[in-house]
Amino acid sequence: VKVHADMTRCIGSGMCTTMAPEVFELDDSGTLHVTTPQVSPDLLDATRQAAACCPVGAISLLEDE
Ligand code: SF4
Repeated sequence: VKVHADMTRCIGSGMCTTMAPEVFELDDSGTLHVTTPQVSPDLLDATRQAAACCPVGAISLLEDE
């Protein structure tokens, strides 16, 4: 599963970094980075929760084919 964050929508709330710190990271200037764009199965639940928690719906998951 690939994860994508729409940076034009992200408001830097940090919800995703709290839910899935292995996948999302905010830098010192509040810019979000997806540190693990290809999510392994063990991180999938946390990543889905992070996507569900994002207040602006910026996080999307793309299932592998
Ligand atoms: S939860 Fe959404 S708005 Fe908040 S930092 Fe993550 S992507 Fe950005």
